[in-house]
Amino acid sequence: MNSPNTSSDASPALPRIAVLATGGTIAGAAPDATSTAGYQAGALGVNFLVDAVPALASIARVDAEQLASIDSKDLALPLWNALVARIDALAADDAIDGIVITHGTDTLEETAYALHLTVKHDKPVVLTAAMRPATALSSDGPLNLLNAVTVAAHPGSRGQGVLVAFNNKIHCARDVVKTSTYAVDAFHSPELGVLGWVQDGRVEFARRATRPHTRDSQLAIGNAWPAVEIVTSYAGVSRTAVDAFVAAGVRGLVVAGTGNGSIHATLQAALAEAAKRGVAVVRASRVGSGHVMKNGAANDDALGFVSAGSLNPFKARVLLMLALANGVTSRDALQAIFDTY
Ligand code: ASP
Repeated sequence: MNSPNTSSDASPALPRIAVLATGGTIAGAAPDATSTAGYQAGALGVNFLVDAVPALASIARVDAEQLASIDSKDLALPLWNALVARIDALAADDAIDGIVITHGTDTLEETAYALHLTVKHDKPVVLTAAMRPATALSSDGPLNLLNAVTVAAHPGSRGQGVLVAFNNKIHCARDVVKTSTYAVDAFHSPELGVLGWVQDGRVEFARRATRPHTRDSQLAIGNAWPAVEIVTSYAGVSRTAVDAFVAAGVRGLVVAGTGNGSIHATLQAALAEAAKRGVAVVRASRVGSGHVMKNGAANDDALGFVSAGSLNPFKARVLLMLALANGVTSRDALQAIFDTY
């Protein structure tokens, strides 16, 4: 996964920021400048991304490192282990002031939340990405990279947990979700809004994350990831997927329910049976914003379910995997984890 580091040295007085590249559209290459959908994600190396932004040299000394070169739709969980190990090692180095991760947009919200819960230091960690490949007209990657490094170099970013800098907005890793298939304003933090903004070298924070993260999180990255899958409730849904997952030995299931986490009776019966057999069942919503009220649209206490609160199904899966990996298994203890993080 690793390739040699490169370092662009500007004034030694500037903050030193490590840029870890993992691939994605920000490193995507298309056959021509007008292609914004047909391209190869992760085709270009980190030096290409950094060299495309000469203005970086006036805000930071950049250490560039290639950690992976993937399309993030294909992300495998060991990449999170590699990222946490590398981030914590870099953060332990007094010479490093902050870390930027370039990533694909497809699973960025999952990686960001996994890191938010498992890196163990206060230094800024900022993810960024792009909706248009690096070869496209009006590619958004270079400005997003410049802004991410600007945020990582800003003293006010310390202790804010893992941040996402995208399209001039700064999001909390817990809240941010991808909300557009094509637009450059592709990320939002539904209900809660952005933490702040970055524009023309200026960083402004409007609020802070209130839930524990990074150093205050009790959750550590494990070496093994428990099998946790997601099922969805919809008109006419069958119980086939739940039964197959249980037969395959999953440790947990997240249900993307309708509305306030309501579940089709057929699916709910299958999930209640799964819960009785020891599978952790977390009830989230497919709606995209709002929260799932405990004992609201389903009687969690009677069914043995955990309510995901305001986490979407994909982030709920991240938290459930981490909780199980950290030995939290009882339904009440899992609910406490979801109420906390
Ligand atoms: N499929 C790409 C990825 O997630 C999409 C992107 O980066 O925008 O790597």
